[in-house]
Amino acid sequence: MRRLIPALLLICAAALAQRGPGASTRDFIRTDAPVLALTHVRVIDGSGGAVLEDQTLVIQNGKIAAVGPAATTAVPRGAQAMELRGYTLLPGMVGMHDHMFFPMGGNPPQYSNMPISFTRLYLAAGVTTIRTAGSVQPYEDLELKKLIDAGKMIGPKMHVTAPYLEGPGSFTPVMHTLSDADDARQMVAYWADQGATSFKAYMNITHAELAAAVDEAHKRGLKVTGHLCSIGFKEAAEIGIDDLEHGWVVDTEFSADKKPDLCNEATARTGRVTLDIASQPVQDTIKFLVEKKVAVTSTLPVFEAGVANAPTGQPQRPLLQQRVLDVMDPEARARYLAARARVPADSPSLALLKKEMQFERDFVKAGGLLLAGLDPTGNGGVVAGFGDQRELELLVEAGFTPLEAIRIATLNGATFLGEQNSIGSLAIGKQADIIVVKGSPDQNIADIEKTEIVFKDGIGYDSDKLIRSVQGTVGTR
Ligand SMILES: [Zn+2]
Repeated sequence: MRRLIPALLLICAAALAQRGPGASTRDFIRTDAPVLALTHVRVIDGSGGAVLEDQTLVIQNGKIAAVGPAATTAVPRGAQAMELRGYTLLPGMVGMHDHMFFPMGGNPPQYSNMPISFTRLYLAAGVTTIRTAGSVQPYEDLELKKLIDAGKMIGPKMHVTAPYLEGPGSFTPVMHTLSDADDARQMVAYWADQGATSFKAYMNITHAELAAAVDEAHKRGLKVTGHLCSIGFKEAAEIGIDDLEHGWVVDTEFSADKKPDLCNEATARTGRVTLDIASQPVQDTIKFLVEKKVAVTSTLPVFEAGVANAPTGQPQRPLLQQRVLDVMDPEARARYLAARARVPADSPSLALLKKEMQFERDFVKAGGLLLAGLDPTGNGGVVAGFGDQRELELLVEAGFTPLEAIRIATLNGATFLGEQNSIGSLAIGKQADIIVVKGSPDQNIADIEKTEIVFKDGIGYDSDKLIRSVQGTVGTR
């Protein structure tokens, strides 16, 4: 018997460990009451409309059952009530360039999935839906999605993008090299069958390959985006691409030595420094993209991370936030700090960031659909979730009002995904994907960093607990 007890304990422990993901998700849930009323709270509905003061929002069966003035909106009998004076509700963010992977350093550069930390950090920061915008471990991304949908792991709702569609000459070996247009078509067909719902063309793809990929994807009702270089924006719009990642700051079509199907980013970058966004050629491209209904995904944090350190004593950009450094493992932290320090003081990165901001403003003014993401790659300073919050702050710096920036990061993404009837804004009948923020992000967008609870389909997760559970792990898992 004395020998039996430890053995039994071991078996029980193993059984518990097997229940692991399912059991531990409970630890992060603040509330999953079947009927919940959030009372006396400010509401930003995500449509761009004015903030509503002193509201009550009722969640029932994972959906928004009622929202209106606290004075006239009844709290249903038996509902759990949560009084939230001093708090603001906004829709869960729809992150459109939200990879599951992170840079691992090395030469040539390596990238790996962060399946534990990134899933939690996205949700903790208020990102309830992501498009992965390119995958380096596609089978894992698809399985993560299944686990999250089944409630066995915590994370955002995932729209998995297939592996990159890239031609010869890639700077990283994490991408398949396409051999021709037929290969591109087959790749789209294969990953669509596996469950990918979008595709990402990359810097060295040829015109013929992109055309084949777009054709195959559109036949299946799926969309293609691109971080392009070998193909200019107008050329891609002509082919029928649906979305362009990063914006003008990667467009090569204005480069003097642009040759068909070839990427020469170095020359293009030099040309960009002197190119005026207000000039006719850039404005013509904006007009053409809007006409062709091509969206643009803003990813300002990854460009901000490439800006040189300011001299000691001056305000630093990018902000070196302790909460971001704390979730990194020591190696990732050291890699990022070293990369930051290496940016030459005379780098044009800051000027280019400002021009990109102007491009995004002009694109929206012209009627374009701007989407938001973070792109957790670059020099390793952009981390899931925190980067999405930073994107909101940078959109405001770009000249959008906080309410416009919130709409770009919520309803615009939902609209692009075709899910605007179920997510992206706070309205009766929509899924209860809601961020609970202490403060007033409509007045001070940085209040988004004071996110305390994030509801996904009506289940409220504790942001702080989620963040604390992944301290020191980004760069490892
Ligand atoms: Zn990216």
